[in-house]
Amino acid sequence: MTERPVALITGSSRGIGAACARIFAAQGYGVCINFLRDDWAAARVAEEVRAHNVPCATVQADVASESDVLRLFDTVDKEFGALTVLINNAGILLHQMRLKDMDAERINRILSVNVTSCFLCSREAVKRMSTAQGGSGGSIVNVSSVAARLGAPGEYTDYAASKGAIDTFTRGLAQEVAAEGIRVNAVRPGIIDTEIHADGGEPGRVKRLASAIPLGRGGQAEEVARSIFFLASDQSSYTTGAIIDVTGGR
Ligand code: NAP
Repeated sequence: MTERPVALITGSSRGIGAACARIFAAQGYGVCINFLRDDWAAARVAEEVRAHNVPCATVQADVASESDVLRLFDTVDKEFGALTVLINNAGILLHQMRLKDMDAERINRILSVNVTSCFLCSREAVKRMSTAQGGSGGSIVNVSSVAARLGAPGEYTDYAASKGAIDTFTRGLAQEVAAEGIRVNAVRPGIIDTEIHADGGEPGRVKRLASAIPLGRGGQAEEVARSIFFLASDQSSYTTGAIIDVTGGR
């Protein structure tokens, strides 16, 4: 019998991460759900995952903190054994503003949650997956944003730039670990209907911008999760260093 694959999905208590948790569970993966604050939401996603009769754990950890990331991966080792897939999904944006009003604390928080986290989690995943270090290979998918291309002027250039860093990291790491059995890809979602827009101070952002999207609507978290699953799974076995736009044509 082949071993059950295991996916660690950062920021999976809601939104795109939670949609990923459901899809991976439905496909027979064990799922490690990570969250920052909302243990109740994480527990609800865990219930849906367990309904597929797959192993599941929920782990509170701030992925911007190195010690929390080490604890998160220790838990994965103990609860699941080998890690097959890492989805670097956790990400934040802060209240919309122009550059002139941004302070260093805000900019550093965006960079540490959106970028440093991705480096730290990928480092720990590569250590475990690398065939050069006794692992069985694996797959990493980073969640970027179309903002990396568009720049998000007047709203959150800090967030957009952090996602530009994710695109560059995806291309670099993909080449660095290709010979070690690890594929690294990214998705660039457009405007997706999740709670993240409320954090930016505009809960109705998806509705406001829908008519400017070629497909005429905002996307659903499940539509992004399906592309993430494709990139993470063997369905894309010859794809690495790729970035797929999931933007409704934007
Ligand atoms: P969301 O609904 O706001 O969910 C964010 C998730 O990340 C939550 O589970 C949250 O946990 C967790 N999280 C936040 N900070 C964390 C931290 N420091 N450590 C661990 N977990 C943390 O966001 P989303 O819209 O699904 O976005 C997911 C990813 O897609 C992000 O990287 C985002 O930048 C990207 N994206 C989203 C859109 C969009 O339109 N929605 C577009 C492009 C890209 P708690 O609830 O416990 O805080």
